[in-house]
Amino acid sequence: MLKVTDLTKRFGGFTAVNRVSFSLEKGEILGLIGPNGSGKSTTFNMIAGMLRPTSGSIEFDGREIGGLPPIEICHRGIGRTFQIPRPFRNLTILENVVTAAFFGQSGHVSRSKAHAQAEEALALVGLPTDPRAEVASLGAAGLKKLELARAIATQPRLLLADESLGGLDETEMNQAADMLDHIRREKDITIIWVEHIMGVLMRVVDRAIVLDHGEKIFEGLPREVAKDPKVIEIYLGT
Ligand code: ADP
Ligand code: MG
Repeated sequence: MLKVTDLTKRFGGFTAVNRVSFSLEKGEILGLIGPNGSGKSTTFNMIAGMLRPTSGSIEFDGREIGGLPPIEICHRGIGRTFQIPRPFRNLTILENVVTAAFFGQSGHVSRSKAHAQAEEALALVGLPTDPRAEVASLGAAGLKKLELARAIATQPRLLLADESLGGLDETEMNQAADMLDHIRREKDITIIWVEHIMGVLMRVVDRAIVLDHGEKIFEGLPREVAKDPKVIEIYLGT
């Protein structure tokens, strides 16, 4: 479904992502982990079109998408969440998700269809579909769910979830992990899930990639990742 080859991003003289390659099969959940500043969000931003790669290629369904505008990439079927949720605060929860359903899909989407898709996305993440429910009523966990609902409402085949656990407590983290697993199964969506911590993510992902200073230092099964000497070194700082 996705094939990333030698993907590189430089900001001036600084290399944030350095020749990263990986591929993704339909139906997988891939965990992309690494310490803060290791290049995870930059990788997402290149796949989703927010940043143009300095070099390397990104193929989705066998076609090059590197450098295409975000809306075009979204219309082709890649949805993403942002690490820092940025909902429209003057719109209700439902309106935020309806807006995503309208603009996130190619071709005409009727009002009733966008509404139905928004309600389905909200139900899937466990947020109220009540049209009066306000964004201001949401805490950290609720805002992360709204991010997911907005991405799901664009009807992606590939979902890029950036730090969905940030600011959540232990119980909420476990719920979020179960939710992503549920979304994958229920909606048949392939997922790349970014976190800087390993934790509950490893329970759900099929495969894990670890980035450090913009380079891929590990790729393998979740049960292997915590045993890898290089991964142990960067996480324990020894
Ligand atoms: P992560 O998501 O893994 O925490 P990022 O991809 O956000 O890391 O950032 C990787 C590195 O690139 C960091 O050192 C960050 O400061 C740098 N970086 C990210 N975006 C920019 C930018 N627009 N300009 C300059 N440096 C950037
Ligand atoms: Mg990040």
